[in-house]
Amino acid sequence: MSTIEKDNENLSDGAAEEVKTKKEIRAEKRAKLKKEKEEKKKKRLPLRRNIDNNIFALAQVWGTSKSYFIIYYLMTFLNAPLEFLLYTYLIRLIVDSVEGVGWSIDAIFAYIFIVGGAAILIWIVSNYYWNAISGIYSEKINHALRRKLYKKATEVDLACYETPEFYDKYVKAMDETQERVRKVMQTLDNLIWNIITLAMTSFLIFTIDPFLIVFALIPLLLGFVRRKANVLNHDQNSERKPINRKFSYVRRTFYLGEYSKEMRMGSFFPRQLQMLAEVRKNYNDLTKKYGPKLAICDFIKNFGLEAVTVLGATLYAVWRTIGDGQGGMTMGDCLIVLNSISSISYALSTMVQYLAEFNEHALYIEDVRYFLAYEPTIKEDPTAPEATRGDIEFKNVHFKYEGAEKESLKGINFRIADGERIALVGRNGSGKTTLVKLLLRLYDPTEGEVTLNGKSAKDYRLSSWRALFGSVFQDFKLFSLSVKENVLHRLPREGDDEAVTEALKESGAWSKIETLEHGIESTMTREFDDEGVNLSIGEQQKVSLARIFAEKTPVVVLDEPSSALDPIAEHKMFENMIKATEGRSVIFISHRLSSAVLADRVYMMEDGEIIEEGTHHELMEKNGKYAEMFHLQAKNYTSGGEDNG
Ligand code: ADP
Repeated sequence: MSTIEKDNENLSDGAAEEVKTKKEIRAEKRAKLKKEKEEKKKKRLPLRRNIDNNIFALAQVWGTSKSYFIIYYLMTFLNAPLEFLLYTYLIRLIVDSVEGVGWSIDAIFAYIFIVGGAAILIWIVSNYYWNAISGIYSEKINHALRRKLYKKATEVDLACYETPEFYDKYVKAMDETQERVRKVMQTLDNLIWNIITLAMTSFLIFTIDPFLIVFALIPLLLGFVRRKANVLNHDQNSERKPINRKFSYVRRTFYLGEYSKEMRMGSFFPRQLQMLAEVRKNYNDLTKKYGPKLAICDFIKNFGLEAVTVLGATLYAVWRTIGDGQGGMTMGDCLIVLNSISSISYALSTMVQYLAEFNEHALYIEDVRYFLAYEPTIKEDPTAPEATRGDIEFKNVHFKYEGAEKESLKGINFRIADGERIALVGRNGSGKTTLVKLLLRLYDPTEGEVTLNGKSAKDYRLSSWRALFGSVFQDFKLFSLSVKENVLHRLPREGDDEAVTEALKESGAWSKIETLEHGIESTMTREFDDEGVNLSIGEQQKVSLARIFAEKTPVVVLDEPSSALDPIAEHKMFENMIKATEGRSVIFISHRLSSAVLADRVYMMEDGEIIEEGTHHELMEKNGKYAEMFHLQAKNYTSGGEDNG
């Protein structure tokens, strides 16, 4: 039994405790470490790409507003030397003057007036610029970025939403872009400031005693230690997150009302205490793992910076001024050295920090670039011919969702003749919505094709193809815009009001909308408008249905349009729909088979295939699955039960 021990790590997941040999545990740990290392490696970008990505961010600013870009850095180019002249070089002038080897007092006063005056002038201008003007410029840049990103967001294939890796990049791009571009500008600004300060101070020190530069260069080496410490801190924080989550979960069970009954009636307390003990152990393990390494980094960093650089340079300067090396340095030079050496070492060590920041920015911008460079497979070709109404046909269409194991559509063949009304019926998950998504070209078939008047859907211009259809989905979304805009799905034009009102009457929403103070101009939801309206889900569905009545598209597609309506409203809606869509093709999915009676042709789907087709009467006569489902629903209705469509 000595080679067997419990795997404590699994306790936290509440999983069954596994029993493993020590050898297995060691192998697992090694594999985990290897994986972590590989993942970190994957995160690193080649230097070229690193620079490219940062330039890409800067180019976004330059491309949108050159004047903002120039003024942003011009301030630094002016401010950094002035600060040096005012705080560092002035000391030298004063001390040299006191020692009688420098300028006259009048010249120093003139220097202070000129340099100080210039500094004050620039401060006033930059203060006004940063507070009153730069916000407008940066919004201009943000706006340009958002336009690019959001336009892309409406173009990417829906399949992308099913690819976690792409989706991750997409969300990050949306969340991060603005902030990252700002950060790249800021890091470059800090770097420029550092370089100017360094160049001027180093030159000054070099003119005093070239050997002093050796002390100043030490922090450059220590910058790598600083970087290592950053990486360690970052890793430690990442590993702390799951422990924090566990801790916050246990805490919640103690203070949230929703757990209070179970906590009192059961004996959870000892189990929760056990979890708290695990949390403590996990935190301690982290400290043991990272603490010593961080301590070493800190020691080297501080020892190098404080002891070697600052104290070393100070000792050397004092030695050259009043010690055995007396005469090598004036009192003024000595003071300059004491004053400058720490700012040089600080500037050098933070320089490495800024390079690490560029590296981090590059990783985020990589995601943004990946997203922006994404070429959708279903895309607009302005040279392709316009789609016009006609017969639509599915020819041996197969479809499998990204990452799914099995096909959602298998060899679908069916035809929607121009002006025909079609009902798609079948149990949940049989493939009806997927078929509709392919019809609208939200997805393209993985095999087979959809045609219009004998020509593949892919050969028509995408926007004209989609414009053929007026559609309402079961999971419809209304926007925080006016009722009118929600009906039209576009910017309103003059003379739209009447059509919108008529459409709302036909969809059954008018009785509610006419009671609103602002009628069809009312804003949906109160999110941005205190006078906005919150409608019930049934009323919302009626508003979204009005779309098919307002726009006379050649084809109407309804995916469970009546799911939130009561049976009376549903019946009325279908009656109106039949009237309003006279001469137009209609494809509707309804889980209540009573509405399928209205269709010219019914297609019954099961497991991604069409298993029965015909008119309602033909299918009832056939007495197959459709008839069975119809009878079952009729029975449920009369006995007040749920339908099962
Ligand atoms: P219905 O509209 O008849 O209820 P769907 O067309 O929504 O059926 O679904 C058909 C099949 O495709 C189901 O097995 C469902 O789980 C699967 N499916 C639907 N959407 C996705 C998706 N985005 N990713 C993977 N599988 C999906």
